[in-house]
Parts: sequence; C-alpha cells; structure tokens
Amino acid sequence: MIYCKRMRDATIEFRVLGCAGGQLPGRNLSSYLVNGSLLIDAGSAASVLSLNEQRKIKNILITHCHLDHVLGLASLADNLYGNGFTIHVWGIRPVISGLKASLFNNTLWPDFTRITGEDQTRPILSFGALREKEPAAVGDSVVTAVRVDHSIPSTGFFITNRGKTLLHIGDTGPTAQIWSLARRKKNLCAVVLETSYPNRLQELATKSGHHTPQSLAEEAGKLGRPSTPFLATHLKPIYREEIIRDLKKIKGQRLMVLKDGDFLRL
Ligand SMILES: [Zn+2]
Ligand SMILES: [Zn+2]
Repeated sequence: MIYCKRMRDATIEFRVLGCAGGQLPGRNLSSYLVNGSLLIDAGSAASVLSLNEQRKIKNILITHCHLDHVLGLASLADNLYGNGFTIHVWGIRPVISGLKASLFNNTLWPDFTRITGEDQTRPILSFGALREKEPAAVGDSVVTAVRVDHSIPSTGFFITNRGKTLLHIGDTGPTAQIWSLARRKKNLCAVVLETSYPNRLQELATKSGHHTPQSLAEEAGKLGRPSTPFLATHLKPIYREEIIRDLKKIKGQRLMVLKDGDFLRL
C-alpha cells in the first residue's frame, strides 16, 4: 500500500479492477475505480464489479478507444439500463467520436446514448467531450485531459479531489506536454503509467506507442520528483515477470507495480 505525505487527509481511494495489458484468466483488462463512483477506463469493469457496485458508477473517463480499455462499457450499459439514471462518459473529442462510430453504432452494439423506455426515460449513457488542457468538473473531481502519444489519440487525466491530484495516463510512448504540466502540480500524489513490454522489446514498444521499464524511467526523469510514486501498469501478461525484473533495476524513483485487486489510499 502506498500513502502520500498526509495520510490523515487521504481522500483518493484508488481501486485496481484490472491493470493487465492483455487478457488471460486472472489478468483483467484496464479499469480503475476512484472513490467508488468515478471509473477510469472500462476494460474489465463489468466482469469485476458486482451489480450493486456498477450501480454506483456516475462518471467514466475513457483514455482512448482501444478495445482493452472500452470493452466493459458495452456490458455496463446493458446491465444498468432500466435503473432510470444516466452515466456520463467523458473523453477528448476524438475518443468520443470513436466510441460513437466504432462501438455504439447500432452494429457492433446498440446506441445506448439514444435508447429510452418505460423504466429509462433518459438514456443510460451520455457522452461528454472534454476540452484538452482545460479543467472540467466531473462529479466531485476536477479533471484535466491532456493528449499523450500512442498509436491512436490517447489521454492522460489529472484528477484533483479535495486538494490532491492523481495523474492517470492511458497507453502512451514517450511524450512531453503532460510532464511540463505535471511539474507545475505541487499536490501531485501519484502517477499511473504503463509499461507494456520488457526492455529487450524496446523497438516493438516504440513502434506501437508503449513503454518499457527503461523508457518509463526516462519519463520519470522528465517529471523529476523521485518521491512521487509511479504506479506501473498495463504489463503484457506474457512478459509480466520479465518486465518486473527490468523495473527492479530502476534506482532513485519510488515505484510500485500494480496488480488486479489493489486498493490504494493516495
Ligand atoms: Zn491498452
Ligand atoms: Zn492502446
């Protein structure tokens, strides 16, 4: 368990539903729950959360449209339709348009932003576009979306809740803009960053817009705050042990490898 400096004020509860960069039995796709009601990505949300827990989700942030990050949206909409409430799904403009065009398009899955009925007078899902680099109120948090560098438009989110800021970054390779913004955040309590491949597959990581432990370490150097914990995520299951061995070689940076089921107070 990781605690930021002021444990007594701990407010951000960060639950890892799934943090694997691929799906296997016991390895769940990307999805994280903040304070019980804000979901970040939805890869495994519908298969990990109970129906009662799913009913508590009010807002969902989507980092990017790749299937391993959005798969659970389809089942969440299906499971929760008929409860009468609406869940707000947020992302930058190309992410929202991608969800509309490629998932909720009435071919791959019904358009749950339009369907209503007797017990559901407003649609179960609503989509909201976040302006890049502009803080926006999402539930009781303030969220700032910043573009990162992946094979498709992908996003990092600064999530500020009661004076603390968590930086959660979706799939990405080396990037710059988000670190220059992060350096200005005095209340940054943790950074969630992917490391999909081991060091020996750096070329594949670079081509596909992902990190290895060595490029994660370079990104941590851009932030330049060794005491701010980096939470490594999105490890490809078939390389997990090798990636962890590479991560252990990183010196001078607080680092933790996330695993499914982790519950952190940040
Ligand atoms: Zn991914
Ligand atoms: Zn991706």
